[in-house]
Amino acid sequence: MNCLFCQIVEGKIPSTPVFQDDQSYAFADISPKAPVHVLIVPREHIGRLDQADESKRALLGHLLWTAAEIARKQGLANGYRIVVNTGEEGGQTVDHLHLHLLGGREMTWPPG
Ligand code: 5GP
Ligand code: ZN
Repeated sequence: MNCLFCQIVEGKIPSTPVFQDDQSYAFADISPKAPVHVLIVPREHIGRLDQADESKRALLGHLLWTAAEIARKQGLANGYRIVVNTGEEGGQTVDHLHLHLLGGREMTWPPG
């Protein structure tokens, strides 16, 4: 499978690591949309959120916890935003499930 984020997880494409453990890998977004913009991905390939079946419930929780842990470590005490773009209308451009952690500036609502 020719998946960009699988290749990043495997180290075949370079990235700037932020956090990693046995289930997840987090790295700096190549085109940051905020002073802090980190992508958190599962090490295993899951295309998108709606392809995560019941067996992935704990993993999904782990990814969310990972995002919160990174936010704590990055000192985002004033708040931050977690985004999971899903599918074409959701704005997903890379087909490997990922959480965006955005922080370091005030966010606006609603998103575009
Ligand atoms: P999506 O639009 O699918 O929610 O988010 C994909 C994200 O991946 C975008 O924010 C984009 O900047 C980032 N991205 C795309 N290609 C690369 C890459 O090669 N390296 C890194 N670090 N980020 C990438
Ligand atoms: Zn993948």
